[in-house]
Amino acid sequence: MSEAENRPTNFIRQIIDADLASGKHTGVQTRFPPEPNGFLHIGHAKSICLNFGIAQDYQGLCNLRFDDTNPEKEDIDYVNSIQEDVKWLGFEWAGDIHYSSDYFDQLHGYAVELIEKGLAYVCFLNGEEMREYRGTLKQPGKNSPYRDTSVEENLVLFEKMRKGEFKEGECSLRAKIDMSSSFMCMRDPVIYRVKFAHHHQTGDKWCIYPMYDFTHCISDAIENITHSLCTLEFQDNRRLYDWVIDNISIESQPRQYEFSRLNLEYTVMSKRKLNALVEENLVNGWDDPRMPTIAGFRRRGYTPGSIREFAKRIGVTKMDNTVEMGVLEACIREDLNDNAPRAMAVLDPIKLVIENYDEAKVEELTVKNHPSDESQGSRIVPFSKELYIEAEDFREEANKKYKRLVLDKAVRLRGAYVVTATRCDKDADGNVTTVYCTYDDKTLGKNPEDGTKPKGVIHWVSAAQSIDAEVRLYDRLFNVENPAAAEDFHSVMNPESLTVIAKAKVEPYLANAQPEQAFQFERQGYFCLDNKDATSEHLVFNRTVGLRDTWAKIAGK
Ligand code: ATP
Ligand code: MG
Repeated sequence: MSEAENRPTNFIRQIIDADLASGKHTGVQTRFPPEPNGFLHIGHAKSICLNFGIAQDYQGLCNLRFDDTNPEKEDIDYVNSIQEDVKWLGFEWAGDIHYSSDYFDQLHGYAVELIEKGLAYVCFLNGEEMREYRGTLKQPGKNSPYRDTSVEENLVLFEKMRKGEFKEGECSLRAKIDMSSSFMCMRDPVIYRVKFAHHHQTGDKWCIYPMYDFTHCISDAIENITHSLCTLEFQDNRRLYDWVIDNISIESQPRQYEFSRLNLEYTVMSKRKLNALVEENLVNGWDDPRMPTIAGFRRRGYTPGSIREFAKRIGVTKMDNTVEMGVLEACIREDLNDNAPRAMAVLDPIKLVIENYDEAKVEELTVKNHPSDESQGSRIVPFSKELYIEAEDFREEANKKYKRLVLDKAVRLRGAYVVTATRCDKDADGNVTTVYCTYDDKTLGKNPEDGTKPKGVIHWVSAAQSIDAEVRLYDRLFNVENPAAAEDFHSVMNPESLTVIAKAKVEPYLANAQPEQAFQFERQGYFCLDNKDATSEHLVFNRTVGLRDTWAKIAGK
């Protein structure tokens, strides 16, 4: 397929195609406008892939703009993490980073323009009164008693607001639109409020801050955004978006288009709830590998390509829906199946002693890093008399379905010899601690000469050369498909979302693993070296995803 044929198609791209064909626009300019009040989540990744993807495919530009009009909730740490995440996903923003706060002077100027046109007024109704006057969906609102204040007086009052002569909540600047509009957002919305807050970009320069609806459309216009893409909850607000643009003297005419937000099963996406998980230490920070944040997925072992592929598969529509976790997992599993080198790690070790193997001998076996991709090369794996195998890979007795090691039966050790179990030791509780076996020295890469072919293959590591590692197994954070619907999300959290294996045994080549480097631990799943807690003395691996989809099974239970 050519690159053009490989592009996604969706209703937004059709609108852009039509706008370019009709000459309404000659190029495409989009933006991604996060509020720096939390880390980005996988829902934002959908928006990033859409906005930056469109800019790429149409040779246009995409701005990164921090929508920073709520200084109390925002933080420079979030500003930094967001940039890092966008870059990690593989996108580049056009030119410098933009901030809505860069436009505070201009926004103030446009507010004055609206006052001068008789289209905005300073209102002294308090919050409760304002709600009362607004009416309901069924009932029209009532005009504020301050609605007919003269232009001159409003200019003076607004200037007093700017100078800090009113208290927070004492008054606000409202657009004068229509108190009986069927769109609530058009019933004289507040466009500026008093807030004595220090801002991470503008410091203490301002004690009045513009509201989102007023700020967003003007920021789009200042940046010559052609297609302003946002999620469906802003559909009604499009009236206000257009009203502001139509009533101020600005040339650019951006237009807003809405698409449905991403919801993912078994997780929450609201920043308020994600923030609560972090603040209450229910997870270990915003980048906890159980979090649906981009930083969390990254730390878990997801690749940028797998997340971009996910965004492509879910598509862009106006239909509300919830995507199964299995769709996201399939994307990373397919990526790692192709690209992650194999390794052997024993998570629940018991000893396997080969009784007829020379005590002093250590063989260096050459094992392929990937079963089908020769380009990934091979590595040396030490083999000796004492190995570790998984406890669950040995049974004293078993039926034919159990294709692992059984007393008096043979099994192949991956990349090595065929062994036959002879006896075992147990501890006081009856748990097997050591299995004894004999090996057939003619079975390296060959079937036994007697024509038998062992059915099972199990993984192992050489005891003396193996390295200890901590392995973290993650499960879904919530027990229900739609935790957002729960009255209290705490009540639906999965208490077993993290299992720590303190002392797994891994093969020596994993000592050189780099942070975020992925491996398939044979028969266990995909793992990566943790990007925070791992050191050369203390390896920590995160399970990214199992080898097979277990979600379908869980959901069907
Ligand atoms: P939250 O409700 O989690 O606080 P938000 O919409 O307030 O999210 P912003 O930082 O304002 O978060 O979002 C930046 C951009 O990302 C917006 O254009 C928004 O529409 C988009 N976005 C946010 N959440 C999702 C989602 N779940 N799916 C798709 N796009 C999203
Ligand atoms: Mg928002």
